[in-house]
Amino acid sequence: MCQPDLHKLPRNIAIDGPAASGKSTIGTLVANKIGYMCLDTGIMYRAVAFQALKEGIDIADKEAVERLAERIEINIRPASSKDGRQFDVIINGGDHTWDIRTPEVNAVVSEVSVYAGVRRAMTLQQRKIAEKGRIVMIGQDIGTVVLPDAELKIYLDASVEVRAQRRYIEDLSHGKDVCLQDVIESLRHRDEIDSGRALAPLKAAEDAVVIDSDKMTVYEVVEYVMGLLKQRG
Ligand code: C5P
Repeated sequence: MCQPDLHKLPRNIAIDGPAASGKSTIGTLVANKIGYMCLDTGIMYRAVAFQALKEGIDIADKEAVERLAERIEINIRPASSKDGRQFDVIINGGDHTWDIRTPEVNAVVSEVSVYAGVRRAMTLQQRKIAEKGRIVMIGQDIGTVVLPDAELKIYLDASVEVRAQRRYIEDLSHGKDVCLQDVIESLRHRDEIDSGRALAPLKAAEDAVVIDSDKMTVYEVVEYVMGLLKQRG
């Protein structure tokens, strides 16, 4: 097993990649190994999408969604329940950990994430959280926009079929009634919007290490990242 020199770790680590590429699982495991905090920024965009639906805001109403992003309160805390969650996601005081992962939220989160005002509000909060350092930040624009100075940048990729299969199995294990073809379609739809948006599109930073995880297990990817940390140390 690779153990990096803990004194020489990068100040911050960025892990980007498309939806369901496993970045949250990998990021959490790496962060736990090196004692860093971990923030999955997808949660924040999901929270905005969820709250917009809850308040009956028209997703196409850019200004209304942007105003919501300015006032929403999102808190991510250590998991308080052993129901498979990695964190508690508290939105405006209520526990909505699982509500942000519904097909309804999946269907609109990428639309919401296109809006400049939404990205501005989320990016500001993310940079503030990263100020103290020792964070693994997960998202789509962390290495390119949010933390361009991160000392280690990973871009975790996988084909849409492999990602859909993983997401499908995960959903089944949570007792959800899902169809693999629907998961593939939903991921394709999000990939298209996420990589095509004008602001902070999903893409690897020029100095990112790209990992294609199609044929790798979670364990192998974590070990690979730990190896990178060791090399850089
Ligand atoms: O990673 P996850 O599937 O939870 O992300 C949900 C959505 O949030 C993405 O498909 C993308 O539209 C948006 N997102 C983003 N920028 C980030 C993280 C997520 O636009 N840094």
